Amino acid sequence: MNVLVTGGAGYIGSHTVVELMNAGHEVIIADNLSNASADVIDRIEKITGKAPEFYRINCCSEILKSIFARHRIDAVIHFAGYKAVGESVRMPLQYYRNNIDSTLSLLEAMEYGGCKKLVFSSSATVYGPDNPHPYKEEMPALQSASPYGWTKVMIERILTDYVTAHPDFCAVLLRYFNPIGAHESGLLGDDPNGIPNNLMPYIGRVAAGKLEKLTIFGGDYATPDGTCQRDYLHVVDLAVGHLRALEYAMEHSGAEAINLGTGKGVSVLELVHAFEQANNMKLPFTIGARRDGDLPAFWADAEKAKKLLHWEAVHSLEDMCKSAWEFARTH
Ligand code: UDP
Repeated sequence: MNVLVTGGAGYIGSHTVVELMNAGHEVIIADNLSNASADVIDRIEKITGKAPEFYRINCCSEILKSIFARHRIDAVIHFAGYKAVGESVRMPLQYYRNNIDSTLSLLEAMEYGGCKKLVFSSSATVYGPDNPHPYKEEMPALQSASPYGWTKVMIERILTDYVTAHPDFCAVLLRYFNPIGAHESGLLGDDPNGIPNNLMPYIGRVAAGKLEKLTIFGGDYATPDGTCQRDYLHVVDLAVGHLRALEYAMEHSGAEAINLGTGKGVSVLELVHAFEQANNMKLPFTIGARRDGDLPAFWADAEKAKKLLHWEAVHSLEDMCKSAWEFARTH
C-alpha cells in the first residue's frame, strides 16, 4: 500500500514510518522539517534498508495536491502540526493557522486524489480538565486547556463533519497519551530543538549532564506521592498502533476516536526512579512549583484499542527508560 505520512520526520512520525516500511508498505513522507532533522530520513533508511520517498514541503500548500497527482496514495497518516503547549499559549494564531490549515489542505488534496482513508494524530488533551480518569472515548471531548489542544479538538470536529458528508470516508482519531522511549536501533528518538518541554527528553539531557537538574512541577497534588500521574507508553508501541489503525481504516468507514495508552498511571517521581533504576544512575532533581495548565492525573481506558485494533502496549517502563537513555546518551 502507498501511505502518505505528513510529519513523518518527527518523533512519532519517524517511528511509525519504520513500522510501515517493515510491514512492506511504500511510504511517502511530507515534512517541512520545522521541528525535525533531515538526518532522520537517512536513519530510517539505515534501519529499514530502504529510503522512503521524501518531500520537504509545507503541508499548507497546493503542493500536497501535486503529491497526489504523482503517486496513487491509498491512505494518509497525518502527524504534521505544531505541538508545544506553552508555545501555543504565546502564539495562538500560528497554531490555529498551521494545524488547521494543514488539515483542510490535506482533506482537499485527498479529495482531489480520491483517497478516503485517514489516521489522525490526536491527543488525550481533548478530554479537557473535567472528565474523570481513566478517559473513555465516549466521554465528551470538547475542550482543552491550550490553543494546541483546541486545534486537536477542532480537527476532530472537522474530520467528524467531513465523514458525515462523505460516509464512505474513514477517519481514525488516535488519542495519544504520553509517548516516551526510543527505537531499539538507537537511531530515532525524541530530540526537540532547544530546552525540552516534555519530561523524558528533559530527563535525558539532565542524565547526559547537559542540563543541571530536573525540576518536578508540583509535589502537592492529590496523588499518591504528590506528583502528577500520566499514562506513559513506548513510542514503538504507539507506532505499531498506527499500523493497526491503518489496517482498521482500510476495512471500515466512519469517524472513530480511539485511545492509545497503557491504561496505567505513573507519577513523575515513579518515572524518575524507574529511569534511575533502569540505567543505574542518580538523577538530580528538585520539586518546584506547579506548571500552569497541568492536570493532576489522567490515563487511558485502553479497552477500545484492544477490541477494535487488536492492539495493546507491550513495552515496560524499564524498556522506555533504557531506550530513552540510550538515545539521549548518543545524541
Ligand atoms: N514535568 C515535570 N518537569 C518537566 C517537564 C514535565 O515535572 O521539566 C511533568 C509535568 O508536570 C507532567 C509530566 O511531567 O506532570 C508530563 O509532562 P509532559 O510535558 O511530558 O507531558 P504532558 O502530560 O504535559 O503532555
